[in-house]
Amino acid sequence: MPDFLHPDKDNYSREELAQEEQIRPQSFKDFAGQRKTLDNLEVFVSAAKRRGGALDHVLLHGPPGLGKTTLANIIANELGVNCKITSGPVLDKPGSLAGLLTNLEENDVLFIDEIHRLSPVVEEYLYSAMEDYKIDIMLETGPNARSVQIGLNPFTLVGATTRSGMLTKPMLARFGIQSRLEYYTIELLSIIIIRSARVLGVKIYEDASIEIARRSRGTPRIANALLRRVRDFAEIKGNGEIEINITKYALDSLNVDEFGLDEMDNKIMRVMIENFKGKPVGISALATSIAENPETLEEVYEPFLIQEGFIIRTPRGREVTDKAYKHLNITRPKNPGE
Ligand code: ADP
Repeated sequence: MPDFLHPDKDNYSREELAQEEQIRPQSFKDFAGQRKTLDNLEVFVSAAKRRGGALDHVLLHGPPGLGKTTLANIIANELGVNCKITSGPVLDKPGSLAGLLTNLEENDVLFIDEIHRLSPVVEEYLYSAMEDYKIDIMLETGPNARSVQIGLNPFTLVGATTRSGMLTKPMLARFGIQSRLEYYTIELLSIIIIRSARVLGVKIYEDASIEIARRSRGTPRIANALLRRVRDFAEIKGNGEIEINITKYALDSLNVDEFGLDEMDNKIMRVMIENFKGKPVGISALATSIAENPETLEEVYEPFLIQEGFIIRTPRGREVTDKAYKHLNITRPKNPGE
């Protein structure tokens, strides 16, 4: 799969990420969709501003590319405070967390991406910071070792995770606000694409934006990445405007399928049908067969395939549906397993 079509930003080049930054919405009004989450957040942010206190801690969960980092930035902007960004794997020692926390100004937002990947010691350390805005710091080592308690400025932790099931109970309990982000409809993605095109200063027609949206796997990150690629085609092979013919030509050249499924999505279904004969299969057996790690399979690929009805989860494992057979143009055997 081309890296830029991957919903997970770990696969993006630095240049790609810089371009993503450029079109990231900065305020609630520019953030499309996720109405329920947004309505609640707007109320909580206004209330916190009126009180002059810190907003309660916020946990955002959902697959990659749906707007978790963007929302953390917007929350900070709307509160009129700084947003410090880090991630679970980066915060490997209590010391690195302490450094960040003690530098926060009053009511700042601290965004921790992939919060499910914090180490247990760092997580433990975070508890008192979240609860009482206090941390214990060890001074010296050996026989003179002692700890002192330091008070922190009130702050808001915004945690993002693709796997809320991996968070410990005490961690979950410390987030007063929890929201799940959903995949976007074609209409919403089209609105996002039109806005991004405006920011990039390129003309796009509505039917072209819908065509890109249809193939974006419900994910704004992919929609924006496709838009940038289609723009390149429009500049080189067309007159610079993004219209439907050049869009279709570009998307076909990029091998993006009409449901927005990528090579890996198709491979998953094909393996389930051909190697496992359409019978229920467990996540680790499936992951091994497609040479992908089980986490990525479960967080990135499976949710979309389930939402679109290509596979279902049963107590006996994952199963492909008729829609998957039809999509791959394979006749379903009358008795599964034949
Ligand atoms: P996540 O943190 O969930 O992986 P991001 O917040 O980094 O995802 O979003 C990826 C890209 O998609 C960003 O560049 C942002 O511009 C765009 N984006 C995400 N959600 C929205 C939205 N609701 N409206 C407009 N653009 C969005």
